[in-house]
Amino acid sequence: MKFSGQIKKMISKHLTPISYDIPIGNDLIPVSTFLDKMIAINFLNEINCIECEREIKKTFAQGYCYPCFINSPRTSECILKPELCRAHEGESRDMEWSKKHCLKEHFVYLSLTAGAKIGVTRATQIPTRWIDQGAVQALKFAKTSNRYEAGAIEVQMKNHISDRTAWQRMLKNEIDDSINLMKLKNELINVIDDEYKQFILKNESVVDFEYPHINFPDKVKSLDLLKVNRIKARLIAIKGQYLLFDDNTVLNIRKHTGFKISLEVN
Ligand SMILES: [Zn+2]
Repeated sequence: MKFSGQIKKMISKHLTPISYDIPIGNDLIPVSTFLDKMIAINFLNEINCIECEREIKKTFAQGYCYPCFINSPRTSECILKPELCRAHEGESRDMEWSKKHCLKEHFVYLSLTAGAKIGVTRATQIPTRWIDQGAVQALKFAKTSNRYEAGAIEVQMKNHISDRTAWQRMLKNEIDDSINLMKLKNELINVIDDEYKQFILKNESVVDFEYPHINFPDKVKSLDLLKVNRIKARLIAIKGQYLLFDDNTVLNIRKHTGFKISLEVN
């Protein structure tokens, strides 16, 4: 079977194990059913911005041309730094967009990727956000009515817990199993300022994720389709937004959003 077209980030379903589809052109390719098979991916030397569709040589913020990166509400500063969101004060690149995305219910969560981390996401992005980062466990910590409040809580916790994913350890499945998210949540409640205590959730339970895999690699080498035009290897796992191959190479599909490729599986 051979598919070709522009790719977008993988779409996941929270099954056991998680199922993944890659959007290629107008098709949804059930890539998690290709486990243990040889896959050939060719970059067809064409990239288009996922917002305005102009042809570009490289992407910014995973799929955008430079003007869209600077102007689109989807690449606002507050996407990476929720504490910088000003939509609650009526200020943003596009208030209509912000009403639907920033001024909605958000969660602050704890997740276990390799170590524990804290993060912020819009309510409708759960559990997608957790699967995209390759979390094996996640726990809702607080619920807020907008993005800014969630960001303020996250910032307050940054001295106590990381906000980053150690992606190489995540892909090698090197999980710190001494971490207990429920216990961590209780510790963090003790350090949070009183003004934020009203947002803390009670009665939440830890959610588990299992990723499709045969095994996980001992070391990982990330592939860049601008440098390596062709990949041919056996698929051994899918985790986060990565395809993992039997030669220790990994491909971050999300990073290549907007690239035109062909994918062949035998
Ligand atoms: Zn564009």
